[in-house]
Amino acid sequence: MKILVINAGSSSLKYQLIDMEKNEVPAKGLCERIGIDGSRLKHQPAGGEAVVIQSPMPTHADAIKLVIAALTDAAHGVISDMSEIGAVGHRVVHGGEFFKQSVIIDDGVKRAIEACVELAPLHNPPNLTGINACEQVMPGVPQAAVFDTAFHQTMPKEAYMYALPYEYYEKYKIRRYGFHGTSHKYVAQRAAALLGRPSEELKLVTLHLGNGSSITAVNQGKSIDTSMGFTPLAGVPMGTRSGDIDPAIVCYLMEKENLSVEQMNGILNKSSGVAGVSGVSSDFRDLAEAAKNGNSRAALAEELFIYNVRKYIGTYAVIMGGLDAVVFTAGIGENNGAMRKEMIKGLDFIGLQIDDEKNKLRGEECDVSADGAAVRTLVIPTNEELMIAKETLELVRGNK
Ligand code: ADP
Repeated sequence: MKILVINAGSSSLKYQLIDMEKNEVPAKGLCERIGIDGSRLKHQPAGGEAVVIQSPMPTHADAIKLVIAALTDAAHGVISDMSEIGAVGHRVVHGGEFFKQSVIIDDGVKRAIEACVELAPLHNPPNLTGINACEQVMPGVPQAAVFDTAFHQTMPKEAYMYALPYEYYEKYKIRRYGFHGTSHKYVAQRAAALLGRPSEELKLVTLHLGNGSSITAVNQGKSIDTSMGFTPLAGVPMGTRSGDIDPAIVCYLMEKENLSVEQMNGILNKSSGVAGVSGVSSDFRDLAEAAKNGNSRAALAEELFIYNVRKYIGTYAVIMGGLDAVVFTAGIGENNGAMRKEMIKGLDFIGLQIDDEKNKLRGEECDVSADGAAVRTLVIPTNEELMIAKETLELVRGNK
């Protein structure tokens, strides 16, 4: 079966067509500037030249129509007819407490996604728009929703509750949700395969380290704690997000600088993190370059990041009562060997040790642990689209 994976943003829509039998991606692409002037679709057939199609896309439904047209085009298409698409899998950011796993979309599911808009005002509305657009353009094709939050719904109450007046949990559902769940679940499953052991036996710390970073304790295949919280602002410092800070700083700064809620939110989300500390960049490649050239704030930003990631490794090993492997993924986790090395440095006392030669490998699944290390260090490129397609396939086949 071929599955179309859709990740809809407010003015963009990413897609991948995945052939599940052949384990291939015949085509993928991106619609940009939906609803504004200059809309275009960039379509990339596997092994072929990318095609850029400039065409008005007033709505997401127009974008989906163009995607179908590109996929079935005589010249750069990869399927002969829309009927070859067996199902559509949608990335949906927030499933609140409604969704503990992926689901086939019906009206009730759409109402629940709508009910979570308050929790993810920037993401859930465009995700819903993408779903409605596909229903309109591809009637009768099963659609599944795969939530970033669902994997973390197994956290115990003591991990997801905040020590705030309980009424705010009841009134506003304020609690830890966690994000990047599709990625954490994917790499945890791949880690079990790579280690040749059943997930039910494993205690893993999965480290999704990219522009946004989150770390998860995966015990026996289930998320039992994760660093992001009520929003993706929490946890380790990120490219431009602060990560955890003393909450009193927010009130203090708002008063001192006479900041509005919106301004404060902007500071925490867009001008903090390693970009805010370094004053150089949110990109770790730029930080490494600047630090090498003697920029002490860039070096400090790197150290802050490494220090906080190490804290999570230790914390999660303790709450799980042991550790079998740490799993690095996403932009930094997959590509930045120097950072991996710093994060693992001195942790041989809990069994973690890296092999410098193996740690040079890139872009493929690998075990970079030193021979004999009791706890493995794995690098696993994430593939959220494949995970969405797999979950969609299982749902369509009625296996879930
Ligand atoms: P996003 O969260 O936006 O998907 P990514 O997962 O692409 O972000 O991560 C972006 C980060 O990954 C940047 O800080 C960048 O420095 C780092 N990164 C990406 N590719 C490489 C690479 N080839 N070498 C070193 N670092 C990389």
